Amino acid sequence: MSDIIHNKPGINEEQCPNCGSEDSTFDDEGKFYVCNVCGHCWAFDRDDSDYYDVDVDPEYLYSVYGIKEN
Ligand SMILES: [Zn+2]
Repeated sequence: MSDIIHNKPGINEEQCPNCGSEDSTFDDEGKFYVCNVCGHCWAFDRDDSDYYDVDVDPEYLYSVYGIKEN
């Protein structure tokens, strides 16, 4: 399981969205981060060609932002 995160100005990409640790490793092949503390994986969608043409899908928004509400 991994999170896809919309990259925002000032965001700390190395910070785990699950546990908050900054002890993470970037997987250069998979283009995602792995938390060294809890094993959570996450990636950013800025390299996605659709990044600037966001198709707002409620389910997608929930999957992205619903997790972060807590
Ligand atoms: Zn973590």
